[in-house]
Amino acid sequence: MQRPITAYIDLAALSHNLTMARHYAPKSKIMAVIKANAYGHGLRHTADALRNADAFALLELEAAIALRDAGFRHPILLLEGFFSTQELALLEKYNLSTVVHHYEQVAMLAKCKHHKLNLFLKINTGMNRLGFTPKQFPTVYNALSNNPAVSHISLMTHFATADGAFDNLRFKQQIQIFNQITQNNLNPLSSANSAAIIRYPQVHQDWVRPGLMLYGASPFETHTGTDFKLKPAMTLTSKIIAIQHLKTGDTVGYGGSFQAEKPMRVGIVACGYGDGYPRHAPTGTPVLVNSQVCRLIGKISMDMLAVDLTESNDTHIDSPVTLWGNGLPVEKIAREAGTISYELLCSLPTRVKIVTMNNQSDHQYFTRACLD
Ligand SMILES: *Cc1c(COP(=O)(O)O)cnc(C)c1O
Repeated sequence: MQRPITAYIDLAALSHNLTMARHYAPKSKIMAVIKANAYGHGLRHTADALRNADAFALLELEAAIALRDAGFRHPILLLEGFFSTQELALLEKYNLSTVVHHYEQVAMLAKCKHHKLNLFLKINTGMNRLGFTPKQFPTVYNALSNNPAVSHISLMTHFATADGAFDNLRFKQQIQIFNQITQNNLNPLSSANSAAIIRYPQVHQDWVRPGLMLYGASPFETHTGTDFKLKPAMTLTSKIIAIQHLKTGDTVGYGGSFQAEKPMRVGIVACGYGDGYPRHAPTGTPVLVNSQVCRLIGKISMDMLAVDLTESNDTHIDSPVTLWGNGLPVEKIAREAGTISYELLCSLPTRVKIVTMNNQSDHQYFTRACLD
């Protein structure tokens, strides 16, 4: 028998969330960000569920080629661009768009004999990760616009604090710098990630680049996705595989860090940090057992974790468990474990089986599968 841990991917939720991105940014074209195996959700079926997007964006060249081979005709943007002339050749072969953020790339482009390259020139407005400074911008822009291999140039930047305090100074400075650089430029513009899409209509521009919100999670630590009418696309489920009866003073798990203060029933769940569950989740982190909220107790092992079944009398071996997703926001688990939902979603390891569900009836199936 297979281990019962499964990540259900709700394809209808993905397309709903795309519709919500359109609702928030109705005048912009949408570049759906599907990097890191679509934030852990699985590339192919996620791209398919998001096929109404105007373009896709990711970093991994192999994944971009796989999408082309699977028949996707959307513009596909490589967010870190290319790293060699060999890769540059593949851009033309597979008709991929690329970010240009570094002089090395400009130099490779100068020697390139391609046609019709579609570039997103990245400007560093304060994130200080990738991109040309405002001072470097004019010469780079001229070099690229005079390069016969280049047919389209868009201008982009990336915000460091769009998810921070509303209208924070750093965010406003980044907008101001981007506006200054682009004010006399007629090229398409792009700057908004999920946080800016939800919160700052003034920066929607020509292309928005939603990532996290498409997967139904909130980019703001103070909220969950449902606050913005988003639906969680991934529900990580497993089952109770053993039940222990602790006596007062007994401990559970490595290090014996949890000690029973009274006799108690403990459920052992087939899910550990080897399944992408955060090892730093402390005692008290919520886990849904039989749709009831129970608390996690003790240390997370590689393959298992323990839950307090005091509140859950009808739980037995094989009872369904939800670690995050439908009914238990991944944002909540991330906060408990001192991390962000992005990290939990995209850390789903390959040993966790992914099962897609597609419509209402699948959803009923899923609810049943979880409940009995
Ligand atoms: C990952 C990424 C995004 C998406 O960010 P979210 O916060 O997930 O919406 C947008 N733009 C760039 C350049 C990115 O790398």
